[in-house]
Amino acid sequence: MSLFRLDCGYQNYDWGKIGSSSAVAQFAASSNPATKIDESKPYAELWMGTHPSVPSKAVDAGNNTGKTLRELVESDPTAYLHSSIIEKFGSEKELPFLFKVLSIEKVLSIQAHPDKKLGAQLHAADPKNYPDDNHKPEMAIAVTAFEGFCGFKPLQELAQTLQTIPELNEIIGQDLVEEFVGGIKPDAELGSSDDAANRKLLQKVFGQLMNTEDTIIKAKARSLLARTKSEPELFGAISPFLAELIQRLDKQFPEDIGLFCGCLLLNHVHLKAGEAMFLQAKDPHAYISGDIIECMAASDNVVRAGFTPKFKDVKNLVEMLTYSYDSVEKQKMPLLPFAKSSGEAAKSVLYNPPIAEFAVLQIIFDTVAGKVQSFDGFEGPSIIICTEGSGSINITGSETSLPVKTGYVYFIGPNAEVQLESESTDKPFTTYRAFVEAE
Ligand SMILES: [Zn+2]
Repeated sequence: MSLFRLDCGYQNYDWGKIGSSSAVAQFAASSNPATKIDESKPYAELWMGTHPSVPSKAVDAGNNTGKTLRELVESDPTAYLHSSIIEKFGSEKELPFLFKVLSIEKVLSIQAHPDKKLGAQLHAADPKNYPDDNHKPEMAIAVTAFEGFCGFKPLQELAQTLQTIPELNEIIGQDLVEEFVGGIKPDAELGSSDDAANRKLLQKVFGQLMNTEDTIIKAKARSLLARTKSEPELFGAISPFLAELIQRLDKQFPEDIGLFCGCLLLNHVHLKAGEAMFLQAKDPHAYISGDIIECMAASDNVVRAGFTPKFKDVKNLVEMLTYSYDSVEKQKMPLLPFAKSSGEAAKSVLYNPPIAEFAVLQIIFDTVAGKVQSFDGFEGPSIIICTEGSGSINITGSETSLPVKTGYVYFIGPNAEVQLESESTDKPFTTYRAFVEAE
């Protein structure tokens, strides 16, 4: 009951990588041989957890085989979640987190998520567009090279962009551009009155853009695209990637407002495999390309800004954002040591975001078989996935060890002490484990 394999469902959203180029497709097929990859279809998300719409099912688990993890949790919440987790998060049905793999071919919508207080307000006022009252913190860990948007650019970069790119300048208007450029205080201390004034100016600029009529945005977007070809040096002075990025995203979402509010105003973040970013509540972000491990709190509350055919709640969006403005480097998460694990793994990294619902542990072995890493019991439930190489897992002290291949997912119950052992000699045995503890 405390350690069993899961067969996880997936989503074919149209932004996913196609066929077997998708890590999601590879993992789904490896974990369940009955899954035949359709080489013409996108495979976007693998869901590991208790969400009812894409269930994870127990495999080779005796009487429990074929039951969903949610059914098992409901049958004995204390055994699967632990009383401390039930008390803290208030659910006897589901894990506090949802763990995912995403394979991204096309940009996802630019979005922000409410914090708990705003989530409750939005849900009360508009339950159709805001289906629950929770916050939705998200963390993304790159499995392959990843790019995304995260937070507004530092103020001086924004000032430079507003002054350099004519189409953006025209949308915002010369008066407001001058007010912004002359008014910002880039060295303001966090939380100071200067910092608050900076954010107000940034909000004014963003609000002006987001409230611009669609026909004007489309015309300016056509002109912007033409300029990336006629005057690439203008964009190169801001970032070596910018002209290409605008051209690529315009192919995916022609003449979209995201070309302005995403490509020109937000940080363009590149993560190498193993690097991570945490997406704060009320900060705008989007995933652009790559394969990632994502962990999030169980919620569907999204406020969208661009690169989407879905509902855009511009009023709430412009009101809710924090308008923090930090460098790309500050958006990346620190890689921390982890005390509750020891042994012969080459790498053990903790990603610990500033929220209670989850943390993720990365364990990587070098390519030598037979190396062992041991873990203390975690008070709450956890889910582990292997993203590369192979090995085995067992309850510490037990004779039975279970296979862990690339794409395999296991549920580990509260307080279960486990060991991982490496096997592959061509690729490093690599796992990610999402977990939650009340303390
Ligand atoms: Zn998000």
